[in-house]
Amino acid sequence: MQTIADSSPAQQPLINHPSQLPAVDKLLLSDTMQQLRQHYGLDACTQAVREVIGELRTRVLAGEALQLDHAQMLAMAQQRLEKRFAPRLRPVFNLTGTVLHTNLGRALLPQAAIDAVVQAMSAPANLEYDLEDGGRGDRDDLVESLICELTGAEAATIVNNNAAAVLLVLSTLALNKEVIVSRGELVEIGGAFRIPDVMTRAGARLVEVGTTNRTHAKDYAEAIGDSTAALMKVHCSNYAITGFTRSVSDADVAHIAHEHQLPTFVDLGSGTLVDLRDWGLPHEVTVRETVESGADIVTFSGDKLLGGPQAGIIVGKKALIAQIKKNPLKRALRVGKITMAALEPTLRLYLNPEKLAQELTTLRLFTRKAAEMQAQAELLQAPLQAALGSSFVVETAPMTSQIGSGALPVESLPSYGLKIHPASGKQAGRQLTELEARLRALPRPVIGRLHDDALWLDLRCLEASAQAAWLQQLPALTRQHKA
Ligand SMILES: *Cc1c(COP(=O)(O)O)cnc(C)c1O
Repeated sequence: MQTIADSSPAQQPLINHPSQLPAVDKLLLSDTMQQLRQHYGLDACTQAVREVIGELRTRVLAGEALQLDHAQMLAMAQQRLEKRFAPRLRPVFNLTGTVLHTNLGRALLPQAAIDAVVQAMSAPANLEYDLEDGGRGDRDDLVESLICELTGAEAATIVNNNAAAVLLVLSTLALNKEVIVSRGELVEIGGAFRIPDVMTRAGARLVEVGTTNRTHAKDYAEAIGDSTAALMKVHCSNYAITGFTRSVSDADVAHIAHEHQLPTFVDLGSGTLVDLRDWGLPHEVTVRETVESGADIVTFSGDKLLGGPQAGIIVGKKALIAQIKKNPLKRALRVGKITMAALEPTLRLYLNPEKLAQELTTLRLFTRKAAEMQAQAELLQAPLQAALGSSFVVETAPMTSQIGSGALPVESLPSYGLKIHPASGKQAGRQLTELEARLRALPRPVIGRLHDDALWLDLRCLEASAQAAWLQQLPALTRQHKA
């Protein structure tokens, strides 16, 4: 590729009239463009050159005298092409300490799911085809029995995400009718998912009972009337109400509902399929426990604690699931083959709990030992310090990770990582925000957390397999600083 180093701008004649600019065709015929064309194609190359010449013409017409040669103009066009063809969705290092980070794509999929996705994308599959009788199948059949086995539910169906699941359930059970919810459970999940709004969109009417901190069984019972379609419980995903509080258990709400021949619906949010205490983690109510408490319908996410692809899983009574599947919205909210391909092997990992913490990526991250992360921090400290130079001090430090995505909002996991602070107190805040931006500008951006006058890099999500790639771009951090 032609370089611009051999033509010093100082020797270039000034361009101060548009007629001195080269013709688009002339630049397109250059060796540089002929090479770029192999990669980007003629249309994109023509567009890039046109844009550069157009921009330069505007500058000249505005009175600017340009000191540019053709190679420099070609370099500008190349930059445009590179930018236009660069992927927007890029891998990053999640060192925020939040494992299920919604803005960073939540759960990382287990290898078995990744392999299945590649297969499903590259070959036809029996997504809705019954291989036994050659007739039409139902995509939910691929995972329904597995989900029922893992949750104790009678039936299951899958939609795009848990928000879709809640919408579909409410629209099926309660169209033009009332749903009773405690005032302590009217949650808002990030990204504008609010229970009252979803209720409205589903065509159901929200009946609030109790108060923010206290709701009693009689509050539910007294609110039941002719228009009541269901009693709903919402898991307080991203907050906790503490102090003088009272809420009614899933089992008691189910009992009240059933006395009135009404169904209960529990939006679990995260929903876990296993008792996390078995791995030394805090307890989060399982889907099975919720089903056993008498809930007629339970919904939860595929990419939170479950550790699979984005999906909404609806489980419950057979007759209700059948009704839900008949709702025309189901067709609009259904999942594609890529999701199905990822979900099935993820669920199957749960059949062998002994290997779960090894195979299920999210659980492996949750259960990483602080000592292991400490050893990793000690190993990475010197190279990072060397890359950053003397203006920053890099220390190893204990920290706490969060599960994220609203699961167990008040619980944290003891972790370890690197804590960076400016060597001098002068404009420490600005130095830190600049450092944070530099890390974000790396080829594979490193996302940390500014906290307590330091930049914290929690190593929980930097597994050994990714460590080499992390180390490899440290020289870029140094170069970028010098640039
Ligand atoms: C996360 C969550 C949702 C939304 O689930 P998505 O899978 O993000 O659509 C709904 N309700 C609760 C209680 C949640 O925690």
